[in-house]
Amino acid sequence: MGKKIILLGATGSIGVQTIDIIREHPEQFSLTGFSAGRNMELARKIIKEFEPEIVCVQNEQDAEALSREFPRTAFVFGGRGLIETAVYDADVLVNAVIGSVGLEPTLEAIKLGRTIAIANKETLVTAGHLVMESAKRYGAEILPVDSEHSALFQSLNGEKLEQATKLILTASGGSFRDSNRDQLKDVTVKEALDHPNWSMGAKITIDSATMVNKGLEVIEANVLFDFAYDDIEVLLHRESIIHSMVEFQDTSVMAQLGTPDMRVPIQYALTFPDRLPRPNAKRLNLAEIGKLHFREMDYVRFRALQLAFDAGRTGGTMTTVLNAANEQAVALFLDGRIKFLQIEEIIERAMDAHNPILSPDLETILHVDSETRKTVLNMLK
Ligand code: NDP
Ligand code: MG
Repeated sequence: MGKKIILLGATGSIGVQTIDIIREHPEQFSLTGFSAGRNMELARKIIKEFEPEIVCVQNEQDAEALSREFPRTAFVFGGRGLIETAVYDADVLVNAVIGSVGLEPTLEAIKLGRTIAIANKETLVTAGHLVMESAKRYGAEILPVDSEHSALFQSLNGEKLEQATKLILTASGGSFRDSNRDQLKDVTVKEALDHPNWSMGAKITIDSATMVNKGLEVIEANVLFDFAYDDIEVLLHRESIIHSMVEFQDTSVMAQLGTPDMRVPIQYALTFPDRLPRPNAKRLNLAEIGKLHFREMDYVRFRALQLAFDAGRTGGTMTTVLNAANEQAVALFLDGRIKFLQIEEIIERAMDAHNPILSPDLETILHVDSETRKTVLNMLK
């Protein structure tokens, strides 16, 4: 029957690609349960195809309607339901929800010693120390799904962590990599949603355009691999072929390369330490690509990345503020209520207004998260 998988965020971009992998390898994987938000059309299709034991949706009414339609599946809803689904008996929990709503389900699954494949980077940014400390305490394995972190993880395989000197994250530059700050003033939501290399959910596509995504990833790398911020570098690499690199003390650099396809790192998180074939996947053809380009990161042009390094170095609740302010600002931008450059302005103002609390507990983090969202909404008044 293979590995039993619980998938949070099944109706999202990472969720759908995780389901592709489960479908491609029926002997290796089965979908025991999943969560969806509001996309009931897709949720119904997934239930019909996989007949899972448990399903969580955001609204109670949707859960009731589904339970009349599919009497063999248990339906739960909302925040509590997400936790019930996360702790449901399985071999791997894939966390592919968007935003800090993924935090509590992750912490509860960790308490059961579950293996967690984590795409949900906001959870690691908002409360990385809680996640990693309790993973250690309960013996839960945390496997990265984010392509850069999967690349770092693979480049570190079989190596001694203390002999690695630098983590080098590559950045495509997002939708506006060739625009200057002046040209960013009046960009539209539609333009921002047009990513050159990756097809992803709306929020992370905006995060890539603002470079907040790389900032979240720098913090994610600090959390997952315990590297100091001075030892994490970001390199512009427009082709997204080298997914990230690790430098060692003898100056050797290990990199992981591939076509930009999230199913590769997702699958690796599901099969680690093994690898499975990907029958219909496009192979990397470097001769066809010909050239790879690299450029030094410009922290003035990409102000948000500087803010993320600042938040990470400050530590404590400052990364919670960075994340919550960004989540709220991106939602406002997608709603057409603020302009593109206001996203980083809002993050900076929220960080300036915050007195960080070091080593916060869960309650403090949840409080700071919700207060920050309110602060951001108040800025609009
Ligand atoms: P999407 O927006 O495509 O999907 C998000 C998923 O979460 C959907 O299933 C959505 O449900 C669900 N959801 C949204 N809000 C809530 C909520 N309040 N409560 C419960 N469920 C909710 O996101 P992505 O797949 O793009 O990203 C998921 C995570 O993976 C993010 O943390 C992102 O940063 C990270 N990531 C994504 C990559 C990508 O290629 N997309 C690459 C690397 C990392 P519904 O749609 O049904 O409402
Ligand atoms: Mg990434």
